[in-house]
Amino acid sequence: MIEKACLKCKRIVTGKQCPICKTSKLSTKWKGFVIILDAKNSEIAKEMSLTEGKYALKVK
Ligand SMILES: [Zn+2]
Repeated sequence: MIEKACLKCKRIVTGKQCPICKTSKLSTKWKGFVIILDAKNSEIAKEMSLTEGKYALKVK
């Protein structure tokens, strides 16, 4: 299964649409990722305003 990253929120998705932004603007050119398990207690999540999930660090 190809994992794509949302161009807007950088979330990594396997479908055709980002479940957060509802956009289909996804990129296969991404590098590195972070997994947010507990958004409420994560400094990274707060800083980047993310919810639980997997996010790409760099998206082209
Ligand atoms: Zn998104």
